[in-house]
Formats: sequence, structure tokens, C-alpha cells
Amino acid sequence: MNASNRRPSPRSAPGSHDREPDRLHRVRHSLAHVLAQAVKELRPGAKLGFGPPIEDGFYYDFILPSPITEEDFPDLERRMRAILRRGQVFAREDLPREDALARIEAMGEPYKREYASELIAKQNLATLGFYRSGPFVDMCDGPHVASTDEIPADAFQLRSVAGAYWRGDAKNVMMTRIYAWAYLSLEELEARRKAHEDAALRDHKKLGSELEIFTFDDEIGRGLPLWLPNGTVIRDELEKLMRELEFEAGFQRVATPHIAKQELYYRTGHLPYYAGHMFPFMPVPTQGDEGDVYCLRPMNCPHHHKIYACRKRSYRELPLRLAEHGQLYRYEDSGAVSGLLRVRGMTMNDGHIYCTKEQVVPECLAVIAMHRLVYDMLGLSSFKVRLSLRSTGADAHGKFVDSPAAWDWAERTLREVLVKSGLPFEEGPGEAAFYGPKIDFQFRSVTGREETASTLQLDFAMPERLDLRYVGADGAEHRPYVLHRAPLGTHERFVALLLEHFAGAFPTWLAPVQARIVPVSERFTEYGERIVTELRKKKIRADLDASNDAMGKKIRQATLRKIPNLAVIGEREALAGTVTIRRHGSKDQTTIPVPALVEQLVREIEKRRSSASPTG
Ligand code: ZN
Repeated sequence: MNASNRRPSPRSAPGSHDREPDRLHRVRHSLAHVLAQAVKELRPGAKLGFGPPIEDGFYYDFILPSPITEEDFPDLERRMRAILRRGQVFAREDLPREDALARIEAMGEPYKREYASELIAKQNLATLGFYRSGPFVDMCDGPHVASTDEIPADAFQLRSVAGAYWRGDAKNVMMTRIYAWAYLSLEELEARRKAHEDAALRDHKKLGSELEIFTFDDEIGRGLPLWLPNGTVIRDELEKLMRELEFEAGFQRVATPHIAKQELYYRTGHLPYYAGHMFPFMPVPTQGDEGDVYCLRPMNCPHHHKIYACRKRSYRELPLRLAEHGQLYRYEDSGAVSGLLRVRGMTMNDGHIYCTKEQVVPECLAVIAMHRLVYDMLGLSSFKVRLSLRSTGADAHGKFVDSPAAWDWAERTLREVLVKSGLPFEEGPGEAAFYGPKIDFQFRSVTGREETASTLQLDFAMPERLDLRYVGADGAEHRPYVLHRAPLGTHERFVALLLEHFAGAFPTWLAPVQARIVPVSERFTEYGERIVTELRKKKIRADLDASNDAMGKKIRQATLRKIPNLAVIGEREALAGTVTIRRHGSKDQTTIPVPALVEQLVREIEKRRSSASPTG
């Protein structure tokens, strides 16, 4: 069934062509019912959650008496095709609410019942819609195809099983979600399958392991990445880039501890609400500290605010810009932990700007300019900008600081910043931080999920809560505003996005190994070592493949590692003091003197070029 059981209206009634959703939508929705029918055949007693059509097919959520895995897919698909052949007609029935609830009760579907009661109460529905198809009945507002034999039997495929909380809420029971692709033709299904395989090759988890970027270990703990030497090179390069840009932009670096007392988070308002996302607290029994309870910090902001507050501030010091690559810990639900995109330990490219009201717009524009600079440098062009606002719905109560006038001003200000920046953007009601609106740079991972890569937040609430002040030109005390900004977000998420963006083939400045020297035989090992020494003197990460492997294998190894520059050396090169250079992804080769190679690489790295164009 669809998650929206709307009030039946003449427009959505069967037979009406006004606004009738397209055939694909009806096919996907009907297939969701067919899947539920097949699951109930295979696992009698299975209970139903929601089963909507989605972008590339549909899913259905179940509570199962015994698990279903991908190994059951052939059996389930066989059952589904048999149902399609049977030509079950989809028949709609609208029952008055009392009869509808009695029907659902009789169906033995507790989750449907919960949802139906809520629908009736919230929307004051007079009737509820049901669809019957063969022996299967679902509470549903349609629309469906007329009969199951209209559904192409070769254009759907069960794809994966995942855990999903009932109604997306971690406080609820975990259901089994079965995802499927569904189209109108086999060709479309195959095109989707191919796109999926291509995306799988870019998946950061696969690349991260193949290229030895990061790993996880059960004895360390779930969601706590161990950065391997190759991954650490990438982190260091990103930090170096940001240190330079932040220096130029007037930031000062600070360093703060990973823990703080719980009182701090009560004061900021993170506690008690945010407790579910924090690691369990640490009471300290030591004499002298009795009663103190420490927390692993879930954000760096309060630490920076305390640096601001460590002495009296004058308006002459503003804007005061503090930056740190700060380590944080968030207790993400174990079901949500995934690769580098959902982790429990992360390092944020964090920074806070303390400024006057008049400085907010120019400071925000400068932050956006920095975001754009790094995005251009990395060739990241497929991001979306979202203006994240508070929500005004009934569910928003308690989620956002209660200060309507300040919110109005802050939202208007960030909108003005975006308009001035010229970046196209969309608005995201309900996506704001609890202390203020924000501008988010949104990406899609290869799994299709939208992720926030970078953020800029305008905070009018924390200065109040932590009593931050400055002495103005008038000699009186005022509250500063705080901008929270993280152009590169966290290393974890950003490196995941970069791995997928570059498909692992990092530009030279970011590549763990920037140049590999490949001698055609052992006779040239010594010449190769001399070249490596020359390159390392210029801080270029070069290595030598001194193995006895055949040339073809050495080249293949370097290609698999996606090393951007390969320098082949043999008799001719050794005599002339040259190398034959080959760039990753290109078949072109050029022979150049060693000093020219060194110079080209130095220049390319300095400019932090991201294109794969030849050096020079
Ligand atoms: Zn912050």
C-alpha cells in the first residue's frame, strides 16, 4: 500500500483519467501488493508495514516469523510471476471507518491498524480504501492496474533486503524491507542493472578496501574507521589545503579535548534531547573529581565557544574566526552505520565565526566563496544547495529554539546570502539545526542517498545560552552571532564522496602514491632508486616497483592502484637520463628528462589540479 491513504475523491476514483498517475507508477504499486501476497505465501503469519512505489521500483516492509534473505529471491520471484499469470483483478472497496477498522482487525495486521486509526483521527476520514486482488487484501488508496496479467513479468527484479524501522523511527520495531526494481520493459530493467553495476565499481566501500584507504575492526568497534597510510595521506592533504585557505581567510587555529562535562551539553541544550546520539557517559569516581560525568563530544562548537568566552572580547576583535580539525563521536544506531558515510567517530573541518549582526552577511559570503573554491578545485559540480529552514508543521514543536522573530531574521538573512552568491538553491523546511537555519551542500552517493557534504549555519541561540558577549563601540555589552562552517564537512564523509567522485583515481596532489617508477628489468633498479630520491627531495610521494614481475603485470598493478603517474625506465632512458611517462587512464607516452618530470609534478601538485590533463 501507499503511505498516503488520501481521502477518496472523485478524481482518484477508478476510471477517472484526470490526474491519473502514469502506468509505471500503477505497475510498481501493484507489484508491491503482489510481493506482499508472495511473502505471505512463503511466510504465513508475516505482518505488513508500508509498501510504496519508489524512484526505480518499489519496496514493502514486513515483520516476518522467520527471516527472508536474498537466497529466497528466486522462489519469491517465481511466486510473483505465477500471481501475474493468474490475472488477478484489482478491485477497490471503500468501507465506512468502523467497518474498515473491523476489517483490518480481522486481517490481523497490527501496523496497518495503527496507521488506519491515526489516519482516521488526523484527517477525519469518513471511509478507508481497500484493494482486493485474488486472496490478498491491502488497505490502500491505489491506483492499481486493472489486473495482474497487465504487469510485464520480465521487467521487475527483487534487489535487496534491508532493515527499516516501522515509520522510520528508531524507537519502533525493526522491519524487513524488500527492495525491487520495476519497469515497463526488460530493456529498461537491464539499463538500470547496468547503471547499478557501474555505480558499484565506484562504491567507496569497495574502493576504500581495494585501494587500502580505510578499514574497520570488530575489536575497535563498529563505525570507528581506522585510516590506513593511503587514507591518511588524503586526510593530511585535505587538512593542509584547508589550513592554507583558512589562514588566508583570517582564521586562527585552536586545539581542544575530545571530552567535556555533561553540564556543558545541558547548558547548550543538546542534552537531554541529543542523548540518544551520544556515547554513554563516563562518571569519574576519582577523589577530587567525584560526581563529575564526562561525555565524548558529539560536536566541537561548545569547546570553541568556551575559547571565545575565556576573556572579555571587544568589537575590535570581531569577526573572530576559530578553526580546528576536531574529532567527534556520535552514537549512530548500529543499523545506520555504513562505510564512511555513517560512522561513530569522525573528524570535522570545523570552524566558528563570532561576529556582529552587520558582519553576518559578508562573513557568510566569504564562507560560501571558500566552499565554491574547494568544490571547483576538486571538480565537484553535481552538488545541490539547500537552504535548511525550521519547519512550521505540528511535528516541529520542541525541535527548534522557540524564538520566532530571531528565526525570521536568520532565515531571511541566509536567503539573502544565497541570492547574493548567485548559487541556485532549493529550500528544505524542517532541515535546520535546532539553534538556527543553515546552508547545506548536498551530494548523492552511488547508492542514491543524498548526503550533506558541507554546511554553513547561522546561530543566534548559542551565544544566548552560553552568555557570549563583546564590548561594542558604544562601551556597552552585546551578543555576537555565531556562524558554524565546515566546507569539507567530515573527513569520513568527504573522502567517501571523493572516492566515488574520482572512482578512486585521485588527482596527483591527493594521490597516496603520486608517481611510480617501473624499471623494465632489474638492471635498471639503481637508476630507478636515484629517480625516487630526486622526487622525494621535492616531497613527491614516489615509489619503485622493484619486483621481478613481468612488465605487463607491473603496469596492471599500478593501474589497479590508480597511480596517476607511471614512469617506465629501460636501457634508452637510463642512458639518456630520461623517463617514459604514462598518465593513469591514458595510453599516451612521452619521454622526458628526469628534471623535467620533477618540475612538472611539482607544478601540478602546487596548483592542486584535478583534471587528468597532461602535466605542464
Ligand atoms: Zn559548530
